[in-house]
Amino acid sequence: MSKPLVYLDNNATTPVADEVFEAMRPFLRESFGNPSSMYGLAAEARKAIERAREEVAQLLGARPDEIVFTSGGTESDNTAILSALSSRPAGARLVTTRVEHAAVGNLARRLREEGRPVTELGVDSRGRLDLDELAAALGPDTGALSVMWANNETGVLFPIEEIAELARSRGVLFHTDAVQAVGKVPIDLSRTPVDYLALSGHKLHAPKGVGALYVRRGAPFRPLLVGGHQEGGRRAGTENVAGIVALGEAARLAREHISEENTRVRALRDRLERGILSSCPSARLNGDPVHRLPNTTNISFEYVEGESILLLLDREGVCASSGSACTTGSLEPSHVLRAMGVPYTAAHGATRFSLSRYNTDADVDRVLEVLPGIIRRLRELSPFGREELAASLRTAQARPAAGR
Ligand code: PLP
Repeated sequence: MSKPLVYLDNNATTPVADEVFEAMRPFLRESFGNPSSMYGLAAEARKAIERAREEVAQLLGARPDEIVFTSGGTESDNTAILSALSSRPAGARLVTTRVEHAAVGNLARRLREEGRPVTELGVDSRGRLDLDELAAALGPDTGALSVMWANNETGVLFPIEEIAELARSRGVLFHTDAVQAVGKVPIDLSRTPVDYLALSGHKLHAPKGVGALYVRRGAPFRPLLVGGHQEGGRRAGTENVAGIVALGEAARLAREHISEENTRVRALRDRLERGILSSCPSARLNGDPVHRLPNTTNISFEYVEGESILLLLDREGVCASSGSACTTGSLEPSHVLRAMGVPYTAAHGATRFSLSRYNTDADVDRVLEVLPGIIRRLRELSPFGREELAASLRTAQARPAAGR
């Protein structure tokens, strides 16, 4: 009998909610019109897109005309940063952090290779930014600031309200990658002066391949994709109507469930975390225990490889994630944990558990039942044995690493 699935990797992606699936279904079948066409079928699709825009705007405390639908978080991040920089003199500086997701981090790297000045701010051992250092980095040559709202690996929350005020007072355009924050923490852009904000459908129970970019009224904008006049000329390409409708419904549900994220889901996460830390010796929490998402815990198991833990958890039906990305045979610890100065022996054994409203007490019980034994077994193996085990499990179940 196959083991029941315990899905604790919701920062990687989330299951599509039933209500979301039902809402999008007609737009894949009977209401399939191209929203740019001139008949009633097309008008249905147009109306549905505008309803979705209102839902997303409401979730953010924004106005519907400030929402542009995109293909996801990556496109939204790229569009925002490039829009901001293109409105400033050539050579204007991008200021960002060392712990951003690849959707921002690798764009910053490319911009630097192309000759643009880029400042990447470090974090302390709990993953926190130093706001004085941030203020000092915003000089007269700064064109744009990009700081994530919540870290995808550790869940650490940055004080975006304060950072937005600071950027505003210095006349610097401010983008925040809120892909992990939306739906998990309250966001009110009518009170927080961010200029751009990225979100992604598949992190809040809508499907993959749809997202949105908030662009404050009056903020500079330059379309990334050039073509048709969709999205008011801000994002060319026939709209992903079903995906957009799904995102609208997911946004409505997120508003409904946000308090549950911060009560029941948080309590489940806390019980899981306490249980692991008390039952597994030499386990340590990575990140700020207070200022972080309610659904995420990132725990290092010293002298054990995160990848081996994940593979053995998978055998028990448990899906989690490691803090490390596998690059051509060598195991590189995560850039986030490295930026926090987590010792090498601990960074390698980092494991992230990220929950959602679909998790239950039984899921937590299952992890607490199997994990201590897995850690014990891996520690008992010699380093050579551990490598062999990891290699054999890896060939049995090869899976490429990706941005999460
Ligand atoms: N930013 C953060 C913080 C993320 O966690 C992710 C996805 O893992 C992205 C951006 C990219 O979003 P998408 O997968 O929708 O392109």
